[in-house]
Amino acid sequence: MPQIVLASRNKKKTQEVADLLAPFGFKVVPVTVFPDIPEVVEDGDTFAANAAKKATEVAVQLQQWVIGEDSGLKVDALDGRPGIYSARYSGEGATDESNNAKLMQELQGVPTDKRGAGYVCSVALSNPAGDVRVAVEGTCRGRILESPSGEGGFGYDPYFLIPEYHRTFGRLSPLVKRKLSHRARAFAAFIPQLLQLGDLSAN
Ligand code: IMP
Repeated sequence: MPQIVLASRNKKKTQEVADLLAPFGFKVVPVTVFPDIPEVVEDGDTFAANAAKKATEVAVQLQQWVIGEDSGLKVDALDGRPGIYSARYSGEGATDESNNAKLMQELQGVPTDKRGAGYVCSVALSNPAGDVRVAVEGTCRGRILESPSGEGGFGYDPYFLIPEYHRTFGRLSPLVKRKLSHRARAFAAFIPQLLQLGDLSAN
């Protein structure tokens, strides 16, 4: 089974990516299995720039093909915040809980019809020389609730309602998230391009 490294330290995100690639015969290996690889500084000003940076830096260091993924939540009423800062929204040492608390605080008093939001996921594939060979993006629209519902997923999922399903990503099954999410949509565009590259070890 061909292996492909994912430049992420987020276990839940890695599991989602592994589940999306497994049906196509790829085993996803998180960068954490290589203890000598330092954390990539996410200083790009777009999701795409950060995804490319993660992929290329780790690929050159490992001399392997690497996927970089950068994702986050853009809230309409907050002019797209937290955006690329989603993981560290509430500052140093941020956790999902502290980020969600900050989100609730910022959205206090915002009415239901103004609580629209979108998740964004950028994915980049780098070859061992550090050239980006595939770059795609997926989005998923929803609405931010005033209180959490469900314990599935991660990050902002318990607050992110998919209106068509009347449920949050925290309550929908992983199977449904795997069909609808920003990550699912990005990988639906990514996979045909990955397959088109053929045998990566020969590229
Ligand atoms: P990254 O690891 O730098 O790409 O940051 C991703 C952050 O965006 C996560 O820590 C979450 O806060 C948020 N995020 C991205 N994707 C999801 C998702 O599928 N569910 C919930 N939160 C997400």
